[in-house]
Amino acid sequence: MSARGLAGALVMVGLAACSPDVPRVTVGTIAVDTFGALPDGHAIERYKLTNPQGIELAAITYGGIITSLKVPDRDGRLDDIVLGFDDLDGYLRESPYFGAIVGRYANRIAGGRFELDGETHALAVNNGPNHLHGGERGFDKVVWEAEPFESDEGVGLALRHVSPDGSEGYPGRVDVTVRYVLTPAAELVIEYEATTDRATPINLSQHSYFNLAGHGSEPGAVVDHVLTIHASRFTPVDSTLIPTGELAPVEGTPFDFRTPTAIGARIGQADRQLAYGGGYDHNFVLDATRAGQFYAARVEHPATGRAFDVFTTEPGLQFYSGNFLDGSITGKADRAYAHRTGFCLETQHFPDSPNQPAFPSTILRPGGEYRSRTVFAFEVVP
Ligand code: BGC
Repeated sequence: MSARGLAGALVMVGLAACSPDVPRVTVGTIAVDTFGALPDGHAIERYKLTNPQGIELAAITYGGIITSLKVPDRDGRLDDIVLGFDDLDGYLRESPYFGAIVGRYANRIAGGRFELDGETHALAVNNGPNHLHGGERGFDKVVWEAEPFESDEGVGLALRHVSPDGSEGYPGRVDVTVRYVLTPAAELVIEYEATTDRATPINLSQHSYFNLAGHGSEPGAVVDHVLTIHASRFTPVDSTLIPTGELAPVEGTPFDFRTPTAIGARIGQADRQLAYGGGYDHNFVLDATRAGQFYAARVEHPATGRAFDVFTTEPGLQFYSGNFLDGSITGKADRAYAHRTGFCLETQHFPDSPNQPAFPSTILRPGGEYRSRTVFAFEVVP
């Protein structure tokens, strides 16, 4: 089913899973409207996926950006729990990757250079001396082709982009598909797939900034969230946030989130790693759980009862505590996003892997297939 050509009016597409043997079960609805237009006039569509409980995810074709995600609190009150803008202009002007798909390489590559099969590749340098989140025009700034769908799991949106050979300095033409699925069980499933015609690094992630108190809540709410990260080690960084290569134990450090701990409990401690990040901005090495899947993290917000678990096939998780937010960005409903009013949990391979032979490889070769899956499972706790 395609909703292309329907932009302009809000069109409800009611979807129901049906088979002759089982009763009709509604898995959700999909609606589409126009979110805005690029300076060249290209229309940007917004898709709204709603599950039977009323959880609603909105995503746009620009950057695959999740512009809002509404989930209930313990009293059933829906609030938008991701940071972003009311209109496209905000995303075009000044977004620190709010809600976006990041790639070809989520996170940093040192000096914007790497060697592959004897050849040195120079990438866009867009973060101090380093390459960040795919360069000047990464996957967060391209227009994705969108196709809404219904699957056994729920209602979804498939986003496709072809990254040309040489884009931002990367070798090979890469064909990428990202699928967002919203399930009746209150899960947001994100699946990533990519193929290439030449060996190239690939590391895709989703850059939503969460605030379970609601996106516009007062500063302080992020530090009140209680976080668990199932990681015994993390990758310490240098002053430009490039990993040193060491997999350091979290034991005895402010990076030990193996038991539930408020984000703010140790964020102000005198610690060189916290100083480099201006707070948490680090990759955690996830502890193996079931084969092929990591139970990465859990977040609970005591005041509202909102909570979620993160499961992933990726070996790493970047926990970024919104340290670079400083109130200078005005987001949805005219809220100025102050210091630490949103945090990111980015499932990923380790930063700078193309220059770190001991890290799990991020190189995709012709004939191979990149596949990655992350699940954010929402719930309400008493
Ligand atoms: C990085 C931060 C960066 C932010 C983008 C995160 O993934 O780890 O260092 O500032 O993205 O704004």
